[in-house]
Amino acid sequence: MYEKLTIHELRDKIKNKEVTIKEVVDDVFKRIEALEPKVEAFVTLNKEYAYKRAEELQAKLDNGDNIGILGGIPVAIKDNMCMKDTLTTCSSKMLSNFVSPYSGTVVTKLEEAGAIIVGKTNMDEFAMGSSTATSAHKKTTNPWDTERVPGGSSGGSAACVAADMAIASLGSDTGGSIRQPASYCSVVGLKPTYGLVSRFGLIAFASSLDQIGPFTKDVRDSAIMLNAIAGHDSKDTTSVEIEVPDYEKALDGSVKGLKIGIPTEFIKDGLNPEVKKAFDEAIEKLKELGAEVKEISLDYAKYALPVYYIIAPAEASSNLARYDGIKYGYRTANFDNLEDIYANSRTEGFGDEVKRRIMLGTYVLSSGYYDAYYKRAGQVRTLIKEDFDKAFADVDVIALPTAPNTTFKFGEKSNNPVEMYLEDIFTVPVNIAGLPGISVPCGFDSKNLPIGLQFIGKVFDEQTLLKVSYAYEQNTEHHKARPNI
Ligand code: GLN
Repeated sequence: MYEKLTIHELRDKIKNKEVTIKEVVDDVFKRIEALEPKVEAFVTLNKEYAYKRAEELQAKLDNGDNIGILGGIPVAIKDNMCMKDTLTTCSSKMLSNFVSPYSGTVVTKLEEAGAIIVGKTNMDEFAMGSSTATSAHKKTTNPWDTERVPGGSSGGSAACVAADMAIASLGSDTGGSIRQPASYCSVVGLKPTYGLVSRFGLIAFASSLDQIGPFTKDVRDSAIMLNAIAGHDSKDTTSVEIEVPDYEKALDGSVKGLKIGIPTEFIKDGLNPEVKKAFDEAIEKLKELGAEVKEISLDYAKYALPVYYIIAPAEASSNLARYDGIKYGYRTANFDNLEDIYANSRTEGFGDEVKRRIMLGTYVLSSGYYDAYYKRAGQVRTLIKEDFDKAFADVDVIALPTAPNTTFKFGEKSNNPVEMYLEDIFTVPVNIAGLPGISVPCGFDSKNLPIGLQFIGKVFDEQTLLKVSYAYEQNTEHHKARPNI
């Protein structure tokens, strides 16, 4: 039963010796063994490592030592985060044999905080997708309805937390890959400000957009996870040198006088009526709690999707050039010369979605089209960012739905990539502008499928984001519902 608890519930029980760390790990692995055939959230399980860690941590605790803010807590990480001596595949055939020789900064930080990394989770190949169905390994299901996708690209990380197969997890978010699956699986998903969490050891998709963040069962846990992973890292030149506050302290339960902006015009098109209803009810609740709601306009946000689908593939085509069949990763067996090794390794190693992005990216970066596409996308990116700056002169946070719809069935959108891209409409502007965003559970549709409420904050103002999310959560019941799996 310990797998059902949150980080903050467990940390007290572990500290007070009401439960041993081994018992917690036992319960989590029992749950994984029971549900993995149905959910398929994991690419790799670290069982041996987990028990060894449990023993070490327990010995430390029994010795009266401090075991850290995540001491003994079983967490999972997305399979695009390098962990020393552990398979790190990005759910791609290209990296199916890649055992990382080093640990990324978030992994080191989790370990320093006392966490036990129980496994690596399934994802869309190289984090490209919104369904986790582009994984080369398996199809992760949504614990709320196993005929449906968990969202993506961090679907495994969202599903394992929703199904109590890990107490918390990490995902990465380039255009919504933490927030959208959090919304589809009814968990809390936080994408921090660009530069708050180190990307060292995160396999790059689109370097100017990627950011690592936590999936948790509630907002307090999100703050605790952020406390563990945030902070400057000299190994990541885009990591920002700022004082990191104690995010848990920001959770005072009040939204009185807080100004919340709603971009009514931007969100009105294509919004599923049931999602709209849940969103409107959430806003009413926030008003009731004393927040002041103001209309704002984000005129350029409607261009965020085309801008994203130029910038992200452009950066991806450059980042993925390193997979050449020579240095590491998959190498074709069919070759007569060097050219063949390159071409055949890439042809056989990458899936369709990855190839689509590489082609798009190579095209928009080619000398004849660079100005028309990539350069222009960069200019519109600035306009989108300025829209947010203007809005934030007036409001403390912005609220909007996380995704226009609830989860869809396998295969439903896979024939039309553009339809899949539209699921990101409310999440990509946040990455384009480098802002923090969070998705919290805000209800269910008539099929009992989860709906997410998104808050967007000012740069490095995760505190206000967590504060408003916490106040909303503590005055609603949605986060308490668990899937019947
Ligand atoms: N769904 C978006 C894409 O396919 C976002 C992915 C992500 O955030 N990693 O690019």
